[in-house]
Amino acid sequence: MQRIGVFGGTYDPVHNGHLHTAMALVERLDLARLHMVPCFQPVHRDSPSTPTEHRWAMLQQACSAHPALHADNRELRRGGPSYSIDTMQSLRDEYPDAALFMVMGADAFRHFGSWHRADDFLQLVNIVVVHRGGEPAPDVAASAWGSAYQPLLGEIVCSRGALTSVQCPLWTTSSTAIRQTLAEGGDIGSDVPAAVAQYIELHQLYR
Ligand code: ATP
Repeated sequence: MQRIGVFGGTYDPVHNGHLHTAMALVERLDLARLHMVPCFQPVHRDSPSTPTEHRWAMLQQACSAHPALHADNRELRRGGPSYSIDTMQSLRDEYPDAALFMVMGADAFRHFGSWHRADDFLQLVNIVVVHRGGEPAPDVAASAWGSAYQPLLGEIVCSRGALTSVQCPLWTTSSTAIRQTLAEGGDIGSDVPAAVAQYIELHQLYR
């Protein structure tokens, strides 16, 4: 069965924390491909002030260096509030038989119960909760969806319906810190790929 992951975010801008985590997920989940899906209009936070075309261009450049990462603009094309359930439905329609793995951070999982149609996700996809080294592991087995819990990643061979958690290496970068450093005229060093740094410089973003 083909194994495909979905890693959503605002990607304002995409950074090496996203990319290292994405590559670790590809390896740990044995994914054929990981779709990196930038949201158009986030439902649980303010909309990014950076124009969509810049977020998308930077994500495309970053993913082009990694064959397993696929920049996917379906939420940008769809417009309106970026409900994840709509994104998962559209991926399920595109890949009716694949094992789909929706990735979410441990922070996001804590609020998952308030998501639009939260109870419907496991009918479409598997859910992988990522926590960073150094953070306490989320107790997904004790959550409202605990009956779907499967502890061993390698044994998840179902197309949908499983919930698991995985620890990825700690990478302290965040888009907020990058935007703030640039606004203060600082140097973001190796927090983003060189191509993304060049794009930011060329378009004078986050100044
Ligand atoms: P912001 O600082 O604007 O909130 P962010 O850096 O958290 O942005 P997002 O695009 O909002 O980035 O995050 C997309 C996904 O990437 C989320 O699931 C988030 O938990 C995860 N993520 C963000 N930064 C890291 C990092 N340094 N290491 C691992 N995962 C990360």
